[in-house]
Amino acid sequence: MSDNSPYEQHLDLNSPNRNLAPLSTSVDQKGRLVVGGCVLSNLAACYGTPLYVIDEESIRVACRTYVNALHKKYQGPSLALYASKANSSLALSRIIASEGMGVDVVSAGELLTALNAGVATEKIVLHGNNKSNAELQLAYQNDVTIVIDNRYDIEQLQGIASEVRPARLMLRFTPGIECHTHEYIKTGHLDSKFGFDPDQLESILRELIGCKWAKLTGLHAHIGSQIFELEPHQDLASVMVDALQLAREIGHPIEDLNVGGGLGIRYVSEDDPPSIDDWVALVSEAVMKACRSRNLDLPRLLCEPGRSLVAPSCVTLYTIGSRKTIPGIRTYISVDGGMSDNPRPITYQSLYTTCLADRPNSKAEEKVTIAGKHCESGDVLLKDVELPPSNSGDVLVVFSTGAYNASMSSNYNRIPRPAAVIVRDGHADLILKREQPEDLLIYDLMPERLIEVG
Ligand SMILES: *Cc1c(COP(=O)(O)O)cnc(C)c1O
Repeated sequence: MSDNSPYEQHLDLNSPNRNLAPLSTSVDQKGRLVVGGCVLSNLAACYGTPLYVIDEESIRVACRTYVNALHKKYQGPSLALYASKANSSLALSRIIASEGMGVDVVSAGELLTALNAGVATEKIVLHGNNKSNAELQLAYQNDVTIVIDNRYDIEQLQGIASEVRPARLMLRFTPGIECHTHEYIKTGHLDSKFGFDPDQLESILRELIGCKWAKLTGLHAHIGSQIFELEPHQDLASVMVDALQLAREIGHPIEDLNVGGGLGIRYVSEDDPPSIDDWVALVSEAVMKACRSRNLDLPRLLCEPGRSLVAPSCVTLYTIGSRKTIPGIRTYISVDGGMSDNPRPITYQSLYTTCLADRPNSKAEEKVTIAGKHCESGDVLLKDVELPPSNSGDVLVVFSTGAYNASMSSNYNRIPRPAAVIVRDGHADLILKREQPEDLLIYDLMPERLIEVG
């Protein structure tokens, strides 16, 4: 066993987002990779592949690090919310809520998941730039805080909420902050579909004062995702405290300042994201400093990590199938999943780290490209990676797949979605059943007349 395998190195035990592999990763005496006390190739044999394997310890450590850092660094009250769009399931919502966190949701499906997982309604926040009437009603009926994003939200809520029980609202605005991340996951720049334009902020705040059905208690902004820089978050804090001052002057009882999520993670060894502690310390200090200089009482500080909370906890297991070598050009190794279970490479050109489940420390001897099984040339999970010799039937591990994989999965090519297990202390529990090809037919209908024609 080598000491320098990236899969065993844990650079920061409190910050799973700085590690390539889940915190509980180790290699057993036979040289096989183990997560949560479970041999990965045994899990593949037992549950089939592709398989999402989630390390409970990594998730709990990430939650505790956020919650504890907020308590330590921020002198006012605080609440960390899980941005459940990263990976929404009953089991994950339950684990995260059990660590004292809330959950934010952007659809009726995510909201029902949080409610059914037993997340306290006062710790659920509904986002979205185009909420349906049914979604707003479900949120209002369950006393969930609603983040108004645009005038359409206000128009719809006027017909839903009553003066007797005003809707509890936060207001999202675009802070006008640029950060360096993929174009598709930037949200804070002015040309964004999310939130009120900063120029509209004052007039909207004044308009809402007259709405007896509304109780505006918070402000929200989110600048983007997979961010490695700390400065944009610092700038965000001062822009938000300006808005806080304005909203309070206008007469809104603003208690909550929600600074969103966005902390990046290490997908490949070259990535170097800040730690959760450093991120929380910076945001807390920036908010406190801005409040002090404007003589404002500290609001409750809310943040909404998604990726940094769950991505590092999960690995995806695949079985290697066919191989194609194009002499002088490339060797393709194909696996039994791909863009349907992990759309990030084809969507964002994202990079990942991989190894063989039973030979994580063997010497890399060939450069290969790992292709998915979908009918799309772009369905490549990893391009030009070094691997030891492998055979069909070997189990391949792809790291850091806990965020925006399962939640963005599809049935492209009518391929069933993978199962997910959560592992801890040598036990694996199934938290998501594997879809079967027959399941994909349940919404199909055959019109009578087509049967008659034959
Ligand atoms: C996506 C999103 C988050 C979470 O972002 P991460 O980069 O996954 O931490 C938080 N808040 C809002 C409003 C979001 O849309």
